[in-house]
Amino acid sequence: MKVSSYRNTYAQISLEAIEENAASFKNWLQTPDCKLMAVVKGDGYGHGAIEAAKAALRGGAAYLGVAILDEALELRNAGIDIPILVLGYTAPDALKEAVRNNISVTVFSVEVRDALIELANLEQTPIKIHIKVETGMGRVGVQTTEELLDLATPLFHHNIKVEGLFTHFAEADSPASTYTDQQFERFTAFIHALEDKGMFVPIKHCCNSAGTLFHKDKHLDMVRVGISLYGLKPDVSLEMPMKLKQAMRLYSSIVSLRKLHEGSSISYGRTYTLPANRTIATLPIGYADGLSRALSNKGFALVNRQKAHIVGRVCMDQTMIDVTDLADVQAGDSVEFPIDEMAEVTGTINYEVVCSISKRVPRYYE
Ligand code: PLP
Repeated sequence: MKVSSYRNTYAQISLEAIEENAASFKNWLQTPDCKLMAVVKGDGYGHGAIEAAKAALRGGAAYLGVAILDEALELRNAGIDIPILVLGYTAPDALKEAVRNNISVTVFSVEVRDALIELANLEQTPIKIHIKVETGMGRVGVQTTEELLDLATPLFHHNIKVEGLFTHFAEADSPASTYTDQQFERFTAFIHALEDKGMFVPIKHCCNSAGTLFHKDKHLDMVRVGISLYGLKPDVSLEMPMKLKQAMRLYSSIVSLRKLHEGSSISYGRTYTLPANRTIATLPIGYADGLSRALSNKGFALVNRQKAHIVGRVCMDQTMIDVTDLADVQAGDSVEFPIDEMAEVTGTINYEVVCSISKRVPRYYE
């Protein structure tokens, strides 16, 4: 463990877990030819995009997915030279930078399509693109087969490589729902519309983590795995069909341990008053680190594997927990904030918890 900070609040990240999860996904895929895209947007879901990408590549990922061009450039600048797709919007004035760095971009508008064609006439190497179609997510993408043919036809006639066609599932984390099947049917219709006109796309892809886990029949040519690459469930209530290892653990430690009298109040706004004499521990972690203020008086941490409730409001840099009933607690003890439970208590998802852990929290890799 390389220590690069003076803090005793940190995220410990197992790159081995990411590598093993990638390898497990690679084994899980319907065919050996199906590619695994490691989705490393949002700084690798808070794990560190470069480190996560390298670990996933060691595990068998062949493609990387990011949300924006800046994230793709960060990976290229770190010397990562495998295919990268920008899954979101890339503005016309940024396309040149993408092309020069051999980064594939997503197209779903005539505006970007026309800018690409203009650029393709000037560039030597073919520009790689993926077309996004809308099948029920209501976010971005071409909506009808007519619109798709209109958008795609000119792309096949220029110095442009239409490498992929993709869509995104809205509800694959509800395995009982038939909505994903309906989306897949619509996606298949888009594929056929292109193929009927002689336009063949080598990489057709639609599955996120949940799709990959619960819709094996929909893997097609590539799957895009994000949250479960990091060993987390797409929905905490799901029974997982394969074993995954959680890569990140969030730790802090007790910097002050004090006995406070009955009636004392804790933190801003005095929202918690001690019902009796209690032992309160203070931790140097707060909402500036990404510890949600919604955990105030609700969340808990684990001290030597025992639950200790957060008392009073989470401050920007410090948080208090009640350790009165816990065995063997001392100043300096390590404290873990469990990710799934934090999400549950604050009414959000584990995705948001890991992505919210701020830059101020050093990541230690093992
Ligand atoms: N594909 C696209 C287009 C996405 O936006 C995302 C993430 O939201 C993913 C794949 C990965 O999804 P997940 O993290 O659920 O695997």
